[in-house]
Formats: sequence, structure tokens, C-alpha cells
Amino acid sequence: MDILFRVKKQFLQRLDSLELPRNPVVIFDIDGTLIDYQGFPIIPIVDLYSEILERGIHVGIITARRHTDQEKTLRILEKHGIRDYTFLYLMNYEVIQDPARYKLEARFDIFSKGFYPIMSIGDMPWDIGMYGGIGYHIPSYHPSDNLFMQRPN
Ligand SMILES: [Mg+2]
Repeated sequence: MDILFRVKKQFLQRLDSLELPRNPVVIFDIDGTLIDYQGFPIIPIVDLYSEILERGIHVGIITARRHTDQEKTLRILEKHGIRDYTFLYLMNYEVIQDPARYKLEARFDIFSKGFYPIMSIGDMPWDIGMYGGIGYHIPSYHPSDNLFMQRPN
């Protein structure tokens, strides 16, 4: 899991090198990014999330979880200390079925509200891209890898 701590470090270095626009936002995916597929927090990325907020930068969460699962998702985020996001988008599959298009539209929605997505991070190709600023595609990993998820000393 060292790779994710490296991703965190590189992400923050890149972020700190940017000249920030007004209302900057960093966009996160949930599953496979902040929370693994067994429901455990992915510590380096949750740490990254917190450090972004500490810099006074907004966070937007765009997940392909169903909007009907919003309450459950809110509980899980809260449980893992993932809070103070400015935007949270869940997917309404009755309106849109393509996660790539949905995520793009959500990023555009943030942009059209006067916020500026500067960076985005996720484990799927569609988590990054247009209206997402600089994209970090993190590797998906097998849930058993979680055995090795520990904070470095
Ligand atoms: Mg994902």
C-alpha cells in the first residue's frame, strides 16, 4: 500500500504547486478510492482528503452509488470521518445509466456553480477528465490488500 502513500504525497505536492483559482475544489470518488470494496477506509486517501480541507480547499464527492442509498452512504462517510464536503453527488440510474457521462455532468455542475475543480482522484478512468482539473487515477487493488493498510510510522 506504499503506493497509495506515494500517491498522496505526489498529489499534495502537485496541489501545492498550483496557483489556486477562486473556489477551488478537489473531487473524490468513494468506492475503491476513499473506501475499499469491503467497506474499510483507504487510509492514505482519507488522510489526503483531510489535508485538502486543512488547506481551505473545497471537496466534492462524486460517487456512482445509487441516490436511493444516500442515507447509508452518508452514514458510512460520517463513520470514517469523511465530512465537510461541499458537494456530494449520487447517481440516479433512472435518469442516467452511464457512469462516465454522469461523472462528467456532475463535474460540470460543480463548475457551473462557480467552483473550479482543480484536481480529481479515483480508481476508474471516468473519475478524472474534463472539468476535473489534474486527474489522478489510482490503482484498484484487491480487498485482501487491506491487510497491509497501516499508517507508516
Ligand atoms: Mg471507484
